[in-house]
Amino acid sequence: MISEKLQNSINTQINAEMWSSNLYLSMSYYLGHAGFPGCAHWMKKQSAEELEHAQRLADYMLSRGEHPKVSAIAAVPEKWDDVNSLFRHALQHEQHVSELINKLYKQALNEEDYATQDMLMWFVREQVEEEESVQEIIDKFEHCTCGCCVMNIDNELAKR
Ligand code: MG
Repeated sequence: MISEKLQNSINTQINAEMWSSNLYLSMSYYLGHAGFPGCAHWMKKQSAEELEHAQRLADYMLSRGEHPKVSAIAAVPEKWDDVNSLFRHALQHEQHVSELINKLYKQALNEEDYATQDMLMWFVREQVEEEESVQEIIDKFEHCTCGCCVMNIDNELAKR
């Protein structure tokens, strides 16, 4: 059994992962429209991954005999100033998600729910990777000095 309080927090995280999925889908559409097909492809994959995160949490609840909930997802932004500020926003968002995961882990720790702690450790590790991969893209754009360099980055991200 997972405590009622912890179930509510996991459901809130499921919603947060689904919101992330929508955020990245919106970013993907913005990028596609702005003429960055490779970046758009990368973001669409990122969106699909976030949905998998939501499902991973829900599957865990099911395996413990609990009932995960699907709740309404708030609207996501549609526009960014440019491709750089979009990826900086993505990094900020992943840092925020890392904080949410840490808080959730702390709750499981306080409740001495060892199975939930074990499940959440995967997310703790995943967040390190998420922040790193977005930071790498930001660095690439920052080192970029010409238009053809931007196109190289876009071609590279198309390979994800
Ligand atoms: Mg996630």
